[in-house]
Amino acid sequence: MLKGEKNLYLLDEPKKIVITTHHKPDGDALGSSLGLYHWLKANKHQVNIILSSDFPTFLDWLPGREDVIIYPDQQEEAQELIDEADILFCLDYSALSRTNILEPVIREAKGQKWMIDHHLDPEDFADLCYWDSSAAATAQLVYTFIVDVVGDKNGITPEIATNLYSGIMTDTGSFRFRSTTSAVHHIIANLIDAGAKNWEIHEQIYNSSTESRLKFLGYCLLNCLEVIPEYNTALFAISKEDLAKFDITTGDTEGLVNYALSIKGVRLAGLFIDRTELIKLSLRSIGDIPCNEICKKHFNGGGHLNASGGSSTDDLLTTVNRFKAILPEYKEILTK
Ligand code: 5GP
Ligand code: MN
Repeated sequence: MLKGEKNLYLLDEPKKIVITTHHKPDGDALGSSLGLYHWLKANKHQVNIILSSDFPTFLDWLPGREDVIIYPDQQEEAQELIDEADILFCLDYSALSRTNILEPVIREAKGQKWMIDHHLDPEDFADLCYWDSSAAATAQLVYTFIVDVVGDKNGITPEIATNLYSGIMTDTGSFRFRSTTSAVHHIIANLIDAGAKNWEIHEQIYNSSTESRLKFLGYCLLNCLEVIPEYNTALFAISKEDLAKFDITTGDTEGLVNYALSIKGVRLAGLFIDRTELIKLSLRSIGDIPCNEICKKHFNGGGHLNASGGSSTDDLLTTVNRFKAILPEYKEILTK
């Protein structure tokens, strides 16, 4: 869906542009932001990416990441850029609350807000909205925005291709989730032709673990995994002490939930982590089991049907027990 395309004329002249994405950006959030960043810069705009937090170390090689501004570290400069921006891109989120401390700042900014996103239930705040919940990644939508919406067929440089490939690869679990259509593979082929070195990207993202992170994985598999066979469900519950023991930082728990889902017969997997102020949870499912409904109804969150997240202000054990108490409600689809 494209809404507000009459505003596209703004890109005809150089503009001041700020790109924002969700708190604790993942590969798609940062890859789509950096892909768009390089394209806008090549088209003579003045562009900055402003994040509400740091990003995982496995993304700390993406072309252009050294230019990113972390709002809490450079608040005055970032505030000025946001105040002066003609356009604020909102990438990989459709509810402003997902930008954490940036929410009020973006809400009050006077520039136009342009959303490019694939999450369900978009909030109505954007002057331009390029949104498709069936897209595999926001990076896919940034690609079609550049190539189809704006029509810049030759605009994909190797830097753009590398960032967009990384976004699509991470959001599709390396091209294996249901969202990976033939159209996605066509775009991926075009990105490789445009200069994305697929083998290097896989190497950078998946073979960049630290020894401590790998040992943390072993520890979690041995000590924090619980399988609930009567509901085909498995979960990890990870305490603050577990995180501290292995010096775990942003992004180190990425992908952990998939180990619970990889058990034969398991159809719903959860990851519960005791973060500084909240319990953060991630759910993954197969088939029609609605992770997003569970997160929305019970854990102040949302997301996609098969991948969603939320949080809880209860303690870790209470949150996990609350989750277990919900399972009977879904017994039929969990066990069919
Ligand atoms: P993850 O489990 O990797 O943190 O998030 C998976 C998906 O769930 C994200 O792509 C996002 O759509 C959604 N999500 C994660 N956390 C939240 C949250 O706190 N609120 C909402 N609305 N969605 C979330
Ligand atoms: Mn995404």
